[in-house]
Amino acid sequence: MRSYSLIAPAKINLYLEILGSRSDGYHELAMILQTIDLADQIDLRSISKDEIQLHCTHPEVPLDKSNLAYRAAELMMKEFPQAFAHQYGGVEITIHKQIPVAAGLAGGSTDAAAVLVGIDLLWKLGLTQSELQELAAKLGSDVPFCISGGTAIATGRGENLSPLPDLDHLYVVLAKHRKLAVSTAWAYQNYRQQFSSSYISDTESLESRASRVHSGQLVNAIFHKDSVKISSLLHNDLERVVLPAYPQILQLREALQNAGALGSMMSGSGSTVFALAESNAHAQEILEKVKLRVLNPEIDFWIARFCNTGIRFLHTIY
Ligand code: ATP
Repeated sequence: MRSYSLIAPAKINLYLEILGSRSDGYHELAMILQTIDLADQIDLRSISKDEIQLHCTHPEVPLDKSNLAYRAAELMMKEFPQAFAHQYGGVEITIHKQIPVAAGLAGGSTDAAAVLVGIDLLWKLGLTQSELQELAAKLGSDVPFCISGGTAIATGRGENLSPLPDLDHLYVVLAKHRKLAVSTAWAYQNYRQQFSSSYISDTESLESRASRVHSGQLVNAIFHKDSVKISSLLHNDLERVVLPAYPQILQLREALQNAGALGSMMSGSGSTVFALAESNAHAQEILEKVKLRVLNPEIDFWIARFCNTGIRFLHTIY
């Protein structure tokens, strides 16, 4: 039976501002998201049994219905029952995990995005990118961005996307305490408890605040590919709650900055921190310096490059 392999890249947040609360319980956000080439590989295969089979050897990745990749396949089964049960049968999903788990890098979201794209190919559905993104929004706030990737402004819950020019000349050093995972739900709940008095509540002001991001300084710097300016304008509201609770994340972020990074910040709700670099050699230099300074075998490091695509087709196996 035919099978497809797809590349599912991680993302970092260059900008994350929490604007207010939504009636659906989520937050109204204004973000600038960036795909990087640290990626999982997802293999998908049609199987004769009418079921979803999921494999992954990473100990922290659940293999039941709580896995976002599983939920993506379930959604496709529900939306396209004819293709699932009658034409092509079930699906076997294998996740080759490279993206650290619960790290603020959208690892689960990108796996789910790859399953949507892969099943569209497997079942020859011919869905457009915007149809895939509509399905993606049912699974989670970051999933629509993971489909298209690149550099983009995301507003609403994260599902309203406006693409920005590519920044693929930049590199990033990522660092994460291996045993430190920050729950995204905890970070947002804490933020609400501490800062909801400053939330914007009327729709008009929310829209105008979100649209200000489009004409803001960071977007301008991205249009000019001005790495130094981009680095000086990195922003993440969630640092206000996560860094005081986890001082080791702040220390790591400062160590990266002091090692000569253009700029450094926590990605999403953490616990990964990243440092921007203008070349691979610059990234290597930061990595060597920071490793010597922190001398902690419990910290993992990666170097990745910014990239301008989301889910990519790798190969077909017959
Ligand atoms: P985001 O940046 O979108 O908030 P994250 O990168 O912080 O996400 P994930 O790697 O997606 O976090 O993991 C969050 C939790 O989701 C994990 O603790 C894990 O139990 C669960 N999970 C479900 N599906 C997956 C998946 N395919 N890969 C990794 N974790 C998954």
